[in-house]
Amino acid sequence: MKSICSVCGRTQGEDNPHDDGVINRVMCANCLEYFLLLWKGREQYPEVESRQHPSFMVTVGRRLVACNTKAESALAKPLKAMAGLMCGEFLDCEKSRLPEGCGLTPHCDSCGFRRVVAETAETGLPQERVTAVLQVNRTGMPEIKNLLLSARKTGDLIELEVAGIQGFPPG
Ligand SMILES: [Zn+2]
Repeated sequence: MKSICSVCGRTQGEDNPHDDGVINRVMCANCLEYFLLLWKGREQYPEVESRQHPSFMVTVGRRLVACNTKAESALAKPLKAMAGLMCGEFLDCEKSRLPEGCGLTPHCDSCGFRRVVAETAETGLPQERVTAVLQVNRTGMPEIKNLLLSARKTGDLIELEVAGIQGFPPG
C-alpha cells in the first residue's frame, strides 16, 4: 500500500517496496494546514452534534469539513485525521483506494454517497433515508455495509447523516 496526499498527490511517508496498487489517501501537512485555515471556525455545528446518527458536513466536492462525535467514534478517527478527505477516503471505501480515487473509478457511477450529495447540492432539497452500499476495507477483509443516507443543504455545505449501519454505533 502506498500513501499519497488526497489533494496534491505527493507521496507520504516511506514508499512501500511491496507496492500492491492499493492507495491510501491522507492529507499532507501543507494541504491539511491550508484546509483547516480555509475552514477555520467551521468545525462546530451544534445541530449536527445533536443528530441521532453519525453526521458529516461535506463540501459539494465531497470533502469533509466537520462531523459530530458519533461520526468520530463510528469511524474510530478524530475529525483532524479526516478533515479535507473525500467521502470514500474517510469512510474507508475500498473503491476509493483504486488508482483513480474517490468518485472517479468505474464503480463510482452507482455510488449513493456521490449521488445524494450531488442531487442535494443541485436541488437544495433534503433527502431522507436513501439506501447506499459501502464496501469498507480497513483490514484486508472487505465488509459490505448497507446504509441509509439523509442529506440537507446548510449554506454552501451538505450535511450527510448516516444510519442503519451494522458496525456503526447503535441508535
Ligand atoms: Zn498535499
